[in-house]
Order: sequence, then structure tokens, then C-alpha cells
Amino acid sequence: MTTEPIDLRSDTVTVPSDEMRQAMAAAEVGDDVYGEDPTVNRLQAELAERLGKEAGLFMASGTMSNQVALKTHTQPGDEVICHRWSHIFNFEGGAGPAMSGVSFNLVDGDYGVITAEQVEAVIRPDSIHYPTTALINLENTHNKAGGTIFPLGEIRNIRKVADHYGLPMHLDGARLFNAVVATGVEAHQWAEPFDSISTCLSKGLGAPVGSVLLGSKEFIEKALYVRKRFGGAMRQVGVLAAAGLFALENNIDRLADDHANAGRLAEGVNEIEGFSVDLNGVHTNIIMIDVTGTGMTEEAVRGRLAERGVLLNTFGRGFLRAVTHLNVSADEIEKALEVFERIAESG
Ligand SMILES: *Cc1c(COP(=O)(O)O)cnc(C)c1O
Repeated sequence: MTTEPIDLRSDTVTVPSDEMRQAMAAAEVGDDVYGEDPTVNRLQAELAERLGKEAGLFMASGTMSNQVALKTHTQPGDEVICHRWSHIFNFEGGAGPAMSGVSFNLVDGDYGVITAEQVEAVIRPDSIHYPTTALINLENTHNKAGGTIFPLGEIRNIRKVADHYGLPMHLDGARLFNAVVATGVEAHQWAEPFDSISTCLSKGLGAPVGSVLLGSKEFIEKALYVRKRFGGAMRQVGVLAAAGLFALENNIDRLADDHANAGRLAEGVNEIEGFSVDLNGVHTNIIMIDVTGTGMTEEAVRGRLAERGVLLNTFGRGFLRAVTHLNVSADEIEKALEVFERIAESG
């Protein structure tokens, strides 16, 4: 149908625009290991300000950012409380146990949300028999749950529990700005209950690479050592940070378009025979499509869509995942819906 596929596999498939490339080419740079890259310093300061934290640290990826945070907060043998579907547990190659020697205490909950009561119930007593509970990790928006927003009220309840037990909290905010745009709650408000936050520039914000870890000055000074050990101390990376700064300036407000496109796709797909979408779970730019009603496996459905130029990822349990982003237009969403309809008709 179309020559270029409509790529809904992830918001990481976006390519930098000409304007972003120009900003990268024009970036002032220096050796960031000496702290002398002005563009990296500007990006770190800009995000620290937006998130209301003292300092920031540029990272090669969201995984590196989360894992540096994990290592900075914990000792080998410690335990981290998180949702069973967390990125930090499921999608980071087992880095938590491999790099930091931590285990995870997994909590279940709808839409990626866990409650303060659930968190309190799994905090370990002081005893030589148990691992030491060292960190609470939350994710907002929640990837595997379908881009869902973690309610701020419940985050604050969990913070009270964390304070009572003297535990730090980390936010995997890879898509924090999607939550900001979808709710109107500002980034610093979302960030306030957390000791550390990781946010990605290379998802919906459209930069080719980069994440930033935010926290107190003391925390970031420790994280600097860990990042070096993890091989993440880089040199003239202002060319990359410039893409991040461009993204913060130009690509946040437009996330609303991605959310509108995701809403349209979700409603449209949900009306097509064989497909179903839990519309209550569509908050931002990710939609989870249950294809069990087609009588085909998710892999078979994925293959048929791909043959007709619509790319999605399989997500297990009979689900496909579609993600909208700045390289997918409203017109292309309508075209994708036509392809879903044709697959439903041809069986
Ligand atoms: C994408 C993502 C990350 C980081 O992924 P990288 O590919 O390593 O940049 C972390 N957490 C969540 C929730 C994500 O979606």
C-alpha cells in the first residue's frame, strides 16, 4: 500500500530532523570527562531545573541511567521493590543482579501501579535471614502496562512509607514528559517525591541518543564514579546533548499529537472484529492490542500487518504493542486502521 512502512514498533525509531541535526552540528563541545563540555553542562542544568533537582548527569542510554542509579543507591545483596512489569527488572538484560548484585521484590498491580500498602507489606524486617530492602523503583509512564500514568497521590503515599523506613525512591521516567503533557502536572511536581529520576531524550522527544539522571548534588557526585566504572564517561558529547536540548525546546508540547493519534488508533482498532483495546489503559502514546479474538497468534497478526506496511511489536500473552511518535502522522494512523480492517476481513 504505502512505500514507507508505518513504523509503530516504538518511539525509539524516530530519526533526527534537519533542524535537530543543524543544532548538533553547531554544538559547542569540550571534554566532558573534565566537565568541560558546555552543551552537556547546559543540558544537565536545564533538566535539573525542569525537574527541581540539584544536578544532572548525561547518560548513553536509559538502561545505563537506571543501572547507575541502582548501583549508586544499593550494596550487593540488597533488594529493590518494583512492579513485576518494570523495565528495570524485565528489559535491562538482567543488569541489576549482574552489575549491582541486587535482587527484586516484585509487586503486582493494574496499569503498572503499586500501592503504598503493597510496598509497606514487602519491606523486609531487620534480620540476618533477609536481604536488605534498599530502594523503591517506580515507572512513569509505565511501558509494559501500556504508557499508563502513575497517579501522583499514590506516589506521595509511597513516599510517606519510604520516609518512615528511611528508603530512597528512584523514578524510571523514560517517558516522564508524556505524563507531563497528558496531565498538565509539571515535571518538577512528578519528580518531587523521588531521590533520583532517569529520563530519556531518545523516546518520544526524538533525540537520537541520550538519557539524563537527576538527583541531589551528593547523589550525582557518587553516580559520576559509577558511570565511569560502567564505561559511560564520554568526551565531546555536546553534539549529542545538543540534540537533547533541541528536543526539550521543540518536542515536548507536540507529544499531545502523539497522544491524540494513540487515542484515535486505540478507539479505531477496538471497533474492529477480533481486536480489542482496554481504552481505560490508553493514557499517552502506547496502546496494547489484544489479538486473541482473531484466532491467530500475535506473531501471525504482526506478520500480516508487516506485509501490508504496518510495523508493531509483539508483547506476549496475545498482545501487540503500538507506539505513536513524531514520525507518524494522523493520516498514517487512518491508513494503519484500514490495514487492521483488511486483516480482520481476510481472517
Ligand atoms: C526505553 C526505556 C528505558 C531505557 O531504555 P534504553 O533503550 O536503554 O534507552 C528505561 N525505562 C523505560 C520505561 C523505557 O521505556
